[in-house]
Amino acid sequence: MSKGDPFCIVCGKPPPLTSDKLCEACFRARNYLSKFPERIQQTRCPKCDMFLIDGRFGRMDHDDLMEYRAMEALSVHPDAQNLDIEIHADLIDDRTSRLTILIKGEIEGFQFEDNHEALLQTSNGVCQTCTRKAGAYFEAVMQLRSAGRRLEDDEVKELRMSLDDMLVDSPEDPMFFITKEGPVTGGWDLQLGSKAMARMWGRKLVNAHGGQTKETSTTVGHKDGVDITRLTLLYRKPAYEIGDVIKFRKRLWRVDTWQKDGPILLAMDRYERTGATWRDLEKCVVISQKKEHYEVDILRRDDSAVEILDPNDFSVRTLSFAYDISADDTKVRICLIEGEWTCMPRTRGEQGGK
Ligand SMILES: [Zn+2]
Ligand SMILES: [Zn+2]
Repeated sequence: MSKGDPFCIVCGKPPPLTSDKLCEACFRARNYLSKFPERIQQTRCPKCDMFLIDGRFGRMDHDDLMEYRAMEALSVHPDAQNLDIEIHADLIDDRTSRLTILIKGEIEGFQFEDNHEALLQTSNGVCQTCTRKAGAYFEAVMQLRSAGRRLEDDEVKELRMSLDDMLVDSPEDPMFFITKEGPVTGGWDLQLGSKAMARMWGRKLVNAHGGQTKETSTTVGHKDGVDITRLTLLYRKPAYEIGDVIKFRKRLWRVDTWQKDGPILLAMDRYERTGATWRDLEKCVVISQKKEHYEVDILRRDDSAVEILDPNDFSVRTLSFAYDISADDTKVRICLIEGEWTCMPRTRGEQGGK
């Protein structure tokens, strides 16, 4: 070995040497590919089974969670390349899993390989949502009512279902929960975890069923000089639905569509559409609901009348037809008005389709 030739700075061996002037044996002795702890802890809420992930409670598929926990705990040499990682999880019991990792990679061209094993242990920690639920916390009261009558049981059911749908569809907001709910005279009341939840649901109800919401705010306390308020949101479902026949200003109309301020009405007796406000219609009378309507075949027709089969007793009836009937129509929509079958003009939603 002549003077000036490179050599391992630890043991003096000749090349090949790494960039730090170490032979392979000395480099391996001083470097590791990966480190992995023997124990890993995770937190799960015992009430809702959500896991604390990155500082927030949430849900994750079991396999993904195991992989996430393993990768979170694994540290790898910053210069490692061509990594190949295999993760395996065995469930030992409800609170414990064994995580095994096989990791391969290169550092400075040398091939490294590690096997690790860790116990993943789950401890309890009640999430904020469950803490608040347990404390009967609520920010908003939602009142479901009908305009001018009591809400029927199946209506309550339908309105209430739309909340479940909304909770499934909305991204998991920890404040979207129901603290308490139940029947009250004329409708249904709910205590909700957040004002945003009440308002979002209110908008959904108005879009689906028409009507309006009314908000009132009450101060329930103070914290750090700021008023703490509770929102009461009253939703009044109109007594009518799209397609129903109603009596309004002494004439018969079908409810055609909704607008923000109220429904558009379609006259039964001649071609005429008119807008009304929710308030205008609070005292209207529903003459025939859409769910009681029939669409029946035209048996014969002449210039002003059609023959149809009475859906109740299958006898032939002659009715004067609605003003919007055309020569190609093979069916008409009928409803009972004061015991007589009557042809109805089509609402906007019924045009084009069948
Ligand atoms: Zn050496
Ligand atoms: Zn929880």
